[in-house]
Amino acid sequence: MSNASEIPVMPIDPSPLALKPLLAAKPAEVYAHRAKRLERLAEDSPLADYLKLCSVLVGVQAKLAVTDMGPAPEFNADQMQPMSVGFTQDNRYWLAQLQSLLSDALPLVPANVAEIIRELMQQAPEQLADWGNCLRRGKFSDVPAQYSLFIWAAMSLYWSHWAPALISRMDANAVKQESLCPVCGSHPVASMVREEPREGLRYLHCSLCETEWHYVRAHCTACDQSEAMELWSFDDHQAAVRIETCDDCKGYTKMLFVSKSPQLDAVADDLASLALDAQLSEQGYSATTVNPLLLAHEADGSV
Ligand SMILES: [Zn+2]
Ligand SMILES: [Zn+2]
Repeated sequence: MSNASEIPVMPIDPSPLALKPLLAAKPAEVYAHRAKRLERLAEDSPLADYLKLCSVLVGVQAKLAVTDMGPAPEFNADQMQPMSVGFTQDNRYWLAQLQSLLSDALPLVPANVAEIIRELMQQAPEQLADWGNCLRRGKFSDVPAQYSLFIWAAMSLYWSHWAPALISRMDANAVKQESLCPVCGSHPVASMVREEPREGLRYLHCSLCETEWHYVRAHCTACDQSEAMELWSFDDHQAAVRIETCDDCKGYTKMLFVSKSPQLDAVADDLASLALDAQLSEQGYSATTVNPLLLAHEADGSV
């Protein structure tokens, strides 16, 4: 195991058209953009109150993203998913982020949410660390649903801060088609279809560390086949948010076309388009993705 600062940085391919298998996030910018996007989407949504609450929470993440994150995690950049929970389950540095996040959010939220925050602030560090690991393992029902949103937000702050340092030390060319984040092993939120450096490239966006990784189009992220894939939308075939379904495993992922709407954010727009999930569920499809802002509503870890 090595500390990030001791590992040499990998050389970057100088060609401007070279496909980057991994896109490192700039967390402060990601959170600031997401908070604004949530506020905008709340304006004409039946989920307005929830989107506004998420906007406040993400705004606090944006503020904290530029503060001291404490010690770096230990990792070995040569391993697969070096920051996965299997390698980092003993890391508790994110608990400091959780306390900062809760104190900063407390005066900004409605009374019923403030009550939940006060309860969470009283929990023992061992309990919080255990819940964090359960969430990262997809065992969502092992964690009180009302706490999950805050615990995930704090872990995301910590891991998204260190992910870029790790990515600069990973051999990106060794990253193959992976349905889970090659950096932290978490599920994606949605697919972003980007126009740079080449048209129509699909990247999966990590629900925890905000990294994006390349994944070919029309290929199922859940069962690894490409025979029964379909891309569709509900009202306008040129819609910015479309769905890729797999008729083999009945899984689906949302496809967010950045060229149609440059303001799209994986987490915010996935959350605001929940009506699509309801329709897909009626037709027998299940999401192959996880939205961190929806954890309070997830019933189990069957993702
Ligand atoms: Zn990740
Ligand atoms: Zn499939």
